[in-house]
Amino acid sequence: SVISVADIRKTFLDFFASKGHTVVASSPLVPGNDPTLMFTNSGMVQFKDVFLGSDKRSYVRAASVQACLRAGGKHNDLENVGYTARHHTFFEMLGNWSFGDYFKRESLQWAWELLTEVYKLPADKLYATVYLEDDEAYGIWEDIFVKAGWTRERIVQETRIIRIGDNKGGRYKSDNFWMMADTGPCGPCSEIFYDHGPHIPGGPPGSPEEDGDRFIEIWNNVFMQFNMHEDGSVTPLPAPCVDTGMGLERLAAILQHVHSNYEIDIFDALIKAAARETGCTDLSNKSLRVIADHIRATAFLVSDGVVPSNEGRGYVQRRIVRRAIRHGYKLGKKSPFFHKLVPDLVELMGAAYPNLANQADRITDILRIEEERFFETLQSGMQILDAALEGGVKVLPGEVAFKLHDTYGFPLDLSADVCRERDLSVDEAGFAVAMEKQKAQARAAGKFKMDKALDYSGAGNDFVGYEDLTANAKVLALYADG
Ligand code: ATP
Ligand code: MG
Ligand code: MG
Ligand code: MG
Repeated sequence: SVISVADIRKTFLDFFASKGHTVVASSPLVPGNDPTLMFTNSGMVQFKDVFLGSDKRSYVRAASVQACLRAGGKHNDLENVGYTARHHTFFEMLGNWSFGDYFKRESLQWAWELLTEVYKLPADKLYATVYLEDDEAYGIWEDIFVKAGWTRERIVQETRIIRIGDNKGGRYKSDNFWMMADTGPCGPCSEIFYDHGPHIPGGPPGSPEEDGDRFIEIWNNVFMQFNMHEDGSVTPLPAPCVDTGMGLERLAAILQHVHSNYEIDIFDALIKAAARETGCTDLSNKSLRVIADHIRATAFLVSDGVVPSNEGRGYVQRRIVRRAIRHGYKLGKKSPFFHKLVPDLVELMGAAYPNLANQADRITDILRIEEERFFETLQSGMQILDAALEGGVKVLPGEVAFKLHDTYGFPLDLSADVCRERDLSVDEAGFAVAMEKQKAQARAAGKFKMDKALDYSGAGNDFVGYEDLTANAKVLALYADG
């Protein structure tokens, strides 16, 4: 039998506890009081002020398993879901930290020790990257490989240690320079990749084929040294720190001898539940993966206080729920099904996240109400969309996308998701023009009071739109008691 996700979490925390780390609980998906960040996108978010020096803890080493969301904001993987084997919107990040205590050598050595000696990953499938100028990290990796039995010639021949440059357009734009957001703590990093084998398309990091799913990035060790300011300048942190993050689902895929994150124990169960509710019998269907991903994101969001709405975080939540529903519709569902996955999720993750378990009923109700609402317009909207895409059309006209959005509750990215499946695109500029036109007319007619909720700030952004406020009011009572 293979190691479960629950045991992978425990092994990680036990390992770092044995190295003097304090185990810290996961923080909420909504970062406390931080306007630079929409959602918690990594384990370091709850420690941001410790890096900056404005917060002190009773410990200098910490480890956690952090619930993360990458949908909206700087690290956004919503468009990768259903397309890669390794990206989710919601995922769990295993992390360890040094606040001015140990630095590069201990961090990389422990990472190697945990992977090869505790989890017993075959060393010859592992690759390391370092930031272009980071000779120190390069040297530490050489020592690690030599100690594991490699000759220096073999390290070079097989390019086991890869320098990643500033090929993204200037200093600090490299993949090996990590930033939480556009401003804040940042620094060069060193990443560990796992080679899933030549039968999978993709190339090593830094190569033109790196975006494939063959060499999968599993662990990032960030050497936090700077604070990035709005003008792009950096100043040193009070002390050099370490911030690491490893994707639990990616590690689980390796340890459970599967290739895709979507084949690990938790996803296997969620995909079967989605198949049960949608009646889809092909378990490899991409829409089932999307639904399984999105139930995690949306249920955890509700448990952390984010309910579907028309602005900010609530609108990201609404977009994710509606995308999931549309994928169910694609599989033939004409009535609410999505909320029925909540008990399955609670069964799988409730023990690790009691806050999810405690709110199971409320999560189900809120998702069901959002579903009932969207199902009222989904079919008519899809008919309009299908008709607009007939006859060799390459681009969905902005006016149609806007009408779908305005009258049928189709977020722009939902229409774009449908188009992408058919190798078509959306005229996003035309959408913005149609939106602007409607706003101008509304202003002229004096019918609408302009407020924040009606302010459109760009496609894919925090959004907008006129919605049925009475319907909203009906569900407010439910939302309030969480
Ligand atoms: P990728 O290049 O694969 O998109 P990343 O470089 O954006 O990953 P980091 O910001 O370095 O990721 O985060 C640390 C680790 O978290 C990654 O090495 C990976 O294991 C995991 N991770 C990142 N994004 C996701 C995601 N969307 N779904 C699952 N795991 C993720
Ligand atoms: Mg990424
Ligand atoms: Mg990366
Ligand atoms: Mg990375």
